[in-house]
Amino acid sequence: MFDDRTRCAVVVGAQWGDEGKGKLVDVLAEQADFVVRYQGGANAGHTVVTGDSQFILRQIPSGILHAGVTCVIGNGVVVDPVTLFSELDALTERGVATDGRMFVSDRAHLVLPFHKLLDAASEKSQGIGTTGKGIGPAYEDKVGRRGVRVGDLRDMSRVRTFLEERVARANRMLAMMGAADLASLDEHVDLLSGYAPRLNTLTADTGLLLHRALRAGKRILLEGAQGSLLDLDHGTYPFVTSSSTTAGGAAVGAGIGPTSIDAVLGVVKAYTTRVGNGPLPSAAAPADDERLRKEGGEFGAVTGRPRRCGWFDATVVRYAVRVNGLTGLAVTKLDVLDDFEKIPVCTGYELDGRRCEEFPDEVELLERVKPVYEVLDGWRASTSAARRLDELPSAARAYLARLEALAETPIRYVSVGTRRDQIIPVG
Ligand code: GDP
Repeated sequence: MFDDRTRCAVVVGAQWGDEGKGKLVDVLAEQADFVVRYQGGANAGHTVVTGDSQFILRQIPSGILHAGVTCVIGNGVVVDPVTLFSELDALTERGVATDGRMFVSDRAHLVLPFHKLLDAASEKSQGIGTTGKGIGPAYEDKVGRRGVRVGDLRDMSRVRTFLEERVARANRMLAMMGAADLASLDEHVDLLSGYAPRLNTLTADTGLLLHRALRAGKRILLEGAQGSLLDLDHGTYPFVTSSSTTAGGAAVGAGIGPTSIDAVLGVVKAYTTRVGNGPLPSAAAPADDERLRKEGGEFGAVTGRPRRCGWFDATVVRYAVRVNGLTGLAVTKLDVLDDFEKIPVCTGYELDGRRCEEFPDEVELLERVKPVYEVLDGWRASTSAARRLDELPSAARAYLARLEALAETPIRYVSVGTRRDQIIPVG
């Protein structure tokens, strides 16, 4: 991934999230000096398997599992201090040293308990299928210019005054929404006073840190959360997340210029899944949906919710290629398809009897499209031990070649299992 011309790379999900970005970032972090989260909050839930251990990281970049890597939570992230410190403590308990390797942007906004109450109350009326972690309301406050930023905790007396007004406002809204629980000012003051001394030791102008690192020729990996189809602008609105998950958001959310980014890797599953609500055009029939979910362990890392499963959708991936400017693809979970006799691939849609090549901009249209399938042969053999492309069965190679042609983007990696070593670099 990294070479003399590629110093700064972005890894984004090119479907609806859960593509296995955590594993890819974990593999690529080995070559990186910095790993940066640029958006989202503690709703991401990357799963990384190292040896016999499994780590679920919600807030901390998965690069933390590599000793030489410095991790950054960028300004575009909303930070839940409770999750952040419970993850840091859990890592320490399991022998992962984090001291001096973890920085949080002074400009990142905080997720507070009242955000979680607001999330639960609005989810009842809106039904977006959020994880209920307070992320959306925290971003709403950021855009509303009334958020509390990590850097604010350097002066707790100011924060107290902020909080009085913010908590009172949240309670007015909660009462309006008929919520049973209201927020407590004391709880907020205690929480932030408790975390401030620890958080302050991690706080930095991380944009400047990364700028200096780039100048010094360091290698930087920008790690996206969720997927491109959940992007606030480019996703299937309103069933989207509240931040810019796509590669443009990486520059904004990390605090570096877009011209610093040299490569954008889009992670896609060899099939498609979607958690939460909203259309999934290439949804499989119930028996295959069940089979893919079982084989692929398709349950949300944060909520345990079953994911809806379907076939690879080339229209979705081509769209992700366009809105991210993807320079390469990483195809994950090829092994999940090992036992399928026939594997449909959605090559495009039909809408009102007409072929539709481009991804529709409205959920209503997406709900009405009919997927057009091409059925490819399965390989009925295990791929999990393959470490080179030529060790894959020929039908699996043909399958990948077809995905590559449909996506019009080269495949750079193929993942064939959960472990770090189960990866095939291509080219
Ligand atoms: P992320 O948020 O994109 O990192 O995705 P998740 O961590 O929510 O989901 C990915 C899941 O797939 C995790 O449980 C990974 O361990 C697992 N995974 C990643 N790559 C592969 C693969 O190639 N094969 C299999 N079977 N599982 C994989």
